[in-house]
Amino acid sequence: MARALLLCCLVQAVNPFVLPGAPRAAAVPAQRRPTPHPRHRGTALQMARDLYETLGVARGSDERAVKRAFREAARKWHPDVNDTPEANERYKEISQAYATLSDPEKKRQYDQFGTTGLGGGPGGGGGVEVNLEDIFDSFFGGGGGGGGRQRQRNGPIQGDDLRADLELDFKSACFGGQEKVRISHLEKCETCSGSGVKPGAKVTSCGTCKGGGVVMQVTRTPLGSFQTQTVCPTCRGSGQSVDAYCTTCSGQGVSRKAKQVSVTIPCGVDTGNKLRVAGEGDAGTKGGPSGDLYIFLSVRGMPGFERDGVDVTTRLSVDAYDAILGSSEVIETLDEPSFSVDVPAGTQPGTKLRLKGKGAPALGKAAQRGDHYVVVDVAIPKKLDGEAQKLVEQLRDAARK
Ligand code: ZN
Repeated sequence: MARALLLCCLVQAVNPFVLPGAPRAAAVPAQRRPTPHPRHRGTALQMARDLYETLGVARGSDERAVKRAFREAARKWHPDVNDTPEANERYKEISQAYATLSDPEKKRQYDQFGTTGLGGGPGGGGGVEVNLEDIFDSFFGGGGGGGGRQRQRNGPIQGDDLRADLELDFKSACFGGQEKVRISHLEKCETCSGSGVKPGAKVTSCGTCKGGGVVMQVTRTPLGSFQTQTVCPTCRGSGQSVDAYCTTCSGQGVSRKAKQVSVTIPCGVDTGNKLRVAGEGDAGTKGGPSGDLYIFLSVRGMPGFERDGVDVTTRLSVDAYDAILGSSEVIETLDEPSFSVDVPAGTQPGTKLRLKGKGAPALGKAAQRGDHYVVVDVAIPKKLDGEAQKLVEQLRDAARK
């Protein structure tokens, strides 16, 4: 009972507004409430920072949101990527918050009481190992793809995918062709063959981590001991002690190069399509494969032409007499600058003439083509001279007889 009382007081001290009617608190007459021990009060104040707030998520967020927030925060504050003095402390805070909120039982307790069983009870003092794979996984863009990428810090790391943008002219997009794209990507260093080590230099096992690339850290906190695996600060995870680094690439194993990539554009592409060029992304490190290059296409317009998938539309203006009597007109199509089209007698304004198979090819299928629609605009004369005026009047009268 004494522990229950103490817990209630701590809860009240931590967050007096969250649990005004907590069952245990209600059962305790106010005057019998013991004054919290100063040491415990101190603990309570230290605990006052909300664990959800520490991770930057809404109170009561679910497991997935908590995990995502942890990854994001860890990416920012992990001492391996953040050199600022407060990084260590911040990282400790967020990994402790995550340790509690990723454990269903502790999370339930925390959600209900605003704290976990301080210092006592089964599991209260047990060590929690924060799985750093969770973070490194997200550093290197892994996961999702079902283990295609290496997770191990020491192992090969696939290079990043890259994006390039390419603007095509209207007809190239319709019919495809060869295009060149200038990119800048990381290539494997030729001097050191990607190892980052100066040719001839000595490589030995790192003394700090004995070649493992990671060191274990134990942190004691009011929530228990946390054992965290962190990247070895001496060798930065390589497990090696290197005598001299490659001077060409500054030990990176890769160097940035500008390059022209030739790409074959299939017929029928449109704005928003992207092409993948395998292996033209950044080079991998430690023997990892290169990433891919994705080329995002956009298509320039062509005056007078509108394209909707495989169909194209142009407009043709004829005068009223031709619309009435019919005529032969010359228009531009995708294939020919001068193509003869018949406007039948009695064509109404807005009529759509269809030129079958004169549209754009379907994506990747040169023989499968859409249609070219010609929308006919009929121009009515705005002003007639005296003779024309008389003739049109005669025509009108004749037509009305
Ligand atoms: Zn090199």
